[in-house]
Amino acid sequence: ANADSGAPTIFDKIIAKEIPSTIVYEDDKVLAFRDINPQAPVHVVIIPKNRDGLTELGKAESRHVEILGQLLYAAKKVAEKEGILHGFRVVINNGPEGCQSVYHLHLHLLGGRQMKWPPG
Ligand code: 5GP
Repeated sequence: ANADSGAPTIFDKIIAKEIPSTIVYEDDKVLAFRDINPQAPVHVVIIPKNRDGLTELGKAESRHVEILGQLLYAAKKVAEKEGILHGFRVVINNGPEGCQSVYHLHLHLLGGRQMKWPPG
C-alpha cells in the first residue's frame, strides 16, 4: 500500500453508508464492521467516525487519547458480542511497512481460531 496522502478513504463511504458493510457495533464515536477479506472466523474493523488527523496511529496527538481508549473499549465490547472474549487479538497496522492499506485509523479484532505468535 502507498503511504498516507491525507485523502478521504473507503471508510468514509462506509461511515456515510454509501457503500454497504455488515455493521456489528456503532455508537456516536465508533463504528465496527466485518472485514471484507476476513483473516479469521471473526474479523471486525473498528474505526473512529471522525478521523480528525488519525490517518494512522503514528499521527496520534494528545487530543486523540479519548478516542483511542474508546476504540480499544469497543474492541472488548465487540469481542463479547461475538463470543470470543476467551481468546482474541487486536491489531493496528501502521504505515507501508506495517502493512497498512487504508489511511483511516482502525483496529482489527480477530478471533474464532487459534492465533499464532509471532504473526509474521
Ligand atoms: P489495513 O491493511 O489498512 O490494516 O486494513 C484495512 C482492512 O480493511 C483490510 O483488512 C481490508 O480487507 C478491509 N477493507 C478494505 N476495504 C473494505 C471495504 O470496502 N469493506 C470492508 N468491509 N472492509 C474493507
